[in-house]
Amino acid sequence: MSGMLYLVPTPIGNLGDISPRARETLEQADFIAAEDTRVSLKLLNHLGIKKSLVSYYEHNKSFKGTVILDRILSGETCALVSDAGSPAISDPGEDLVRMCAEHGITVCAIPGPCAVITALSISGLPTGRFCFEGFLSTSKKSRKAHLESLSAETRTMIFYEAPHKLLNTLQDLADTFGGDRKISLCRELTKLHEEVVRTTLAEAIAHYSDNPPKGEFVLVVDGAAPIEKPVATTDDAAYRVQELMAGGMSRKDAVKQTAKELDLPKNVVYDASLSNFETE
Ligand code: SAM
Repeated sequence: MSGMLYLVPTPIGNLGDISPRARETLEQADFIAAEDTRVSLKLLNHLGIKKSLVSYYEHNKSFKGTVILDRILSGETCALVSDAGSPAISDPGEDLVRMCAEHGITVCAIPGPCAVITALSISGLPTGRFCFEGFLSTSKKSRKAHLESLSAETRTMIFYEAPHKLLNTLQDLADTFGGDRKISLCRELTKLHEEVVRTTLAEAIAHYSDNPPKGEFVLVVDGAAPIEKPVATTDDAAYRVQELMAGGMSRKDAVKQTAKELDLPKNVVYDASLSNFETE
């Protein structure tokens, strides 16, 4: 019988955020796969857990992924942790989950700290619909293409960013969305110097040009205002049907085309075309 993969979230700053279930899973797993074993060892020492650690990170993930997979297939239980937060969100855990799923291994995610959700919830921006965009690429070309694909995005957008790239990224965001666009910069979440700056892109650029950014950041950017489509009335529909029929179209075809053009139900357009003009 094969074992299981557990995704175990770890604190993004405040060590008190480890949950009893996360701790229990780390204690009971046969081994722990960690992004940086030195970082995870500190946490395990803090929790008083002694467990065999396997490194699993971006540059060894294809080889180590197979090793981990084989161990799980032979019946062992693996707990995957990243440096901080929820494994598989913007870290190599994503690939291990896919490999396990492809081999029919049960993957169990334990809910817990995650920078994207923590930031969104305190951003003060709409949370009903959002999209997580991870890190922007360091390549100028793909970064531009990524941002251009978001130029009309109406959902709240969330980005991860490192402090030394923050100003460049804010400039690129302002070039794409305009300086007036609202942004919440969530820094050092759950840590001593946690800070949320709710401002605009232009003001954020001015602020961080004067105060060099320090610490870890999540950027929450307001979506574009939705483009209001004018709602067509039955008079509009009747007028358009009449216009098309005057051009030689049958009523049936004119109704069909008008319904499509004005985004109205066909029966509404048909009734309108009869009631508004036939009695004249
Ligand atoms: N898997 C993790 C998660 O979703 O929580 C994130 C891993 S990603 C490699 C690291 C990025 O998460 C950082 O560059 C930063 O953008 C964000 N982050 C992590 N901890 C943070 C914190 N305490 N405050 C603000 N941002 C944080």
